[in-house]
Amino acid sequence: MYMIINSGSSSIKFKLFSTDKDEKIITEGIAERIGIDGRLVINYQNEEHKFEDKMNDHNIAVEMILKKLLSLKIIENYNQIETVGSRVVHGGEQIKESVVITPETKEIIKKCIKLAPLHNPGALVAIEAFEKIIPNVLQVAAFDTSFHQSLAPEQYLYPVPNSWYDKYEVRKYGFHGISYKYICEHFGKVFKKDVKKLNLVICHLGNGSSVCCVKNGVSFDTTMGFTPLAGLMMGTRSGDIDSSVIEYMVKETNSDVFKITQILNKESGLLGVSEVSSDMRDITAAASQNNSKAQKAFEMYTQRVAQTIVQYLNNLDREKIDGIVFTAGIGENSNIVRQAIIDKINIVNLEIDNKKNLEKYDDFKEISSTKSEIKIYAFRTNEEQMILNDIKKLKKNK
Ligand code: AMP
Repeated sequence: MYMIINSGSSSIKFKLFSTDKDEKIITEGIAERIGIDGRLVINYQNEEHKFEDKMNDHNIAVEMILKKLLSLKIIENYNQIETVGSRVVHGGEQIKESVVITPETKEIIKKCIKLAPLHNPGALVAIEAFEKIIPNVLQVAAFDTSFHQSLAPEQYLYPVPNSWYDKYEVRKYGFHGISYKYICEHFGKVFKKDVKKLNLVICHLGNGSSVCCVKNGVSFDTTMGFTPLAGLMMGTRSGDIDSSVIEYMVKETNSDVFKITQILNKESGLLGVSEVSSDMRDITAAASQNNSKAQKAFEMYTQRVAQTIVQYLNNLDREKIDGIVFTAGIGENSNIVRQAIIDKINIVNLEIDNKKNLEKYDDFKEISSTKSEIKIYAFRTNEEQMILNDIKKLKKNK
């Protein structure tokens, strides 16, 4: 079996896949509120098993997940898990693709803790917990940053003194890379196109939102930056603002940089502007009831995505563009958001087919009309599948 895990700052999501050809999902679940009170939910054979038990850290959470998989008889022994694949947020500049976990790769993840202090520590502790509980298990890590290592210095450098980059590693790293890589490979597969020749503008619109310009199959530019706070407006993140606002608000509110940054990460974006919710479903519902703040949040969100699409289309050779792709929670599901974004683009003739935009779909669908100059798609992203694909590739090359 393959175990794919995704460690957040206070959670571990997991999915257990069979190793046979059809790679069925055997079970999935989440350990959450780690470090608070602890809750574990395991879905198995259409039943939800809930446990409430204190989990002080990610190590205890992994122990608890594995113990419950045994007691629920989902696995008979730990050795049935032959490979563990972890999503790690930050691999810095050293890691350009998914890797087998070795002492050296662990050292790199550790070194990147200062760049992703909320996410890398939990991932590392979880990896070490698996090492302890299932010695000799093959472990693989996939990184959110590695897909964007193809960016040229003109894209990844900030116009600040060189020493900020040379000495302090300040640059654009970009995130959501596992999702972007999945979309590229899946797009190539379903349309039988060479991934190395793909030219796409991919909009990963979820609670965290970003856009990636894919040129000749690699990331040419992306909106998130040194951290995921940059770029688009998101569920609770502001996206780009003038950085002078931070010092100004520290002074005006007699606060500190930490608190203001916290507000930009957790209390801004759709939530901050609408004062309704960070969830796009709530925003569109409130906007349709004439809630003016929700309407403003919706306009601001869709305007920013539209502007970025235009900017990124301009990086690509016109005749080689394969399409614009919407993905992640909002991109996959909200026909209203997709329509509003495309309606805000005038420089190129883009048109959505209403009927197609509303149709239910499993994997992907084209939503553009025959009049649209560029094809537009909605694709379901699948980060776990991407990690699984990378595991298989690494095993083959071993
Ligand atoms: P993600 O971060 O990719 O899991 O996306 C989560 C976000 O997707 C939620 O916060 C919602 O805002 C959004 N979402 C999910 N389903 C829908 C939907 N049917 N319509 C609009 N937004 C949705």
